[in-house]
Amino acid sequence: MARDILIMNNLDGGYEVFIGGKRRVFVHAVDNVSLTLRDSEVLGIAGESGCGKSTLAKMIYGAIVPPLLVRSGSIFLYTRDGNVVELNRLSIEEVRKKIWWLEMSYIPQNSMNVLNPLKRIKDQFINVFKYHNMEMDKNEVMRHLKDILSSLSLPPEVINAYPHQLSGGMRQRVVIALSLLFNPRIVIADEPTTAVDVVTQRIILSLIREWRENSKSSLMLISHDMSVHAYMDDRVAVMYAGNIVEVGNVFDVFKEPLHPYTRALIESLIRKGDKTIRKGLAGQPPDLVNPPPGCRFHPRCPFAMDICRREEPPAVSLGKDRYVKCWLYASKR
Ligand code: SF4
Repeated sequence: MARDILIMNNLDGGYEVFIGGKRRVFVHAVDNVSLTLRDSEVLGIAGESGCGKSTLAKMIYGAIVPPLLVRSGSIFLYTRDGNVVELNRLSIEEVRKKIWWLEMSYIPQNSMNVLNPLKRIKDQFINVFKYHNMEMDKNEVMRHLKDILSSLSLPPEVINAYPHQLSGGMRQRVVIALSLLFNPRIVIADEPTTAVDVVTQRIILSLIREWRENSKSSLMLISHDMSVHAYMDDRVAVMYAGNIVEVGNVFDVFKEPLHPYTRALIESLIRKGDKTIRKGLAGQPPDLVNPPPGCRFHPRCPFAMDICRREEPPAVSLGKDRYVKCWLYASKR
């Protein structure tokens, strides 16, 4: 089994929001999350919108900007040179200089959040080189840049374009190229294809998959779309209302989902040739300011028991890399 290169222990955090400038409320988006990312694997983070996936990604990447707060927990990263760094003990400046782009990159949902609309694509890449004091002459930078763009099926002319002159799919590929510039060991992709059409989505996912297979880097892929996980992941972690409720090898999870929430997500997938009408999961994820007691899924769960409404379910390890957080499996502990 590949070794862990990113270890998250009991991460807890969310957003501190002031209502009317006075009353402080805490949106508890990530609740006691422990998870690992292995060398050269694709780990998917699945779940509906609003279940804490993007907040978890930001916490791992160190993009902690108020109102986001990390209340407790630790994140350890094994760097390329064999050192172990506790990420949440680094200052934001240290994270920027030593971790971002070099060890870990982030692909956001929307490329316009990353690209400066007033700068040509090549200048945006050159800025990243300058920021990291990379010793390369300009011709070498341009060659490297064209190579990386071509690996994402982008023509060399793109380097002279402004972001608004490119289609949404091309801009997203430019952002992916930026994130892969220094061949980072870990890439966190947060819904990287949500803003593009279905055809572009498949092209981008294939390119990411090809890059990962060649580079042997690790990918943490956040998506609400279970078909994306079926196509991309080695392991998948399912998140609901801030909790990781199930983790396992992607084939095992799709073949036999254990947690009722995972089952509902997989059952709602449209299958080739199957014309039966899919029933979506009834209800909405809970309000994370006041999440329900016990199991946070109990108001929507068809198997809910009395204990589910009172007590938080235990995390049950079922061997073979499988973990589930549900009272239905408590006797198997
Ligand atoms: Fe359903 Fe209870 Fe399991 Fe929660 S703990 S998913 S309510 S059976």
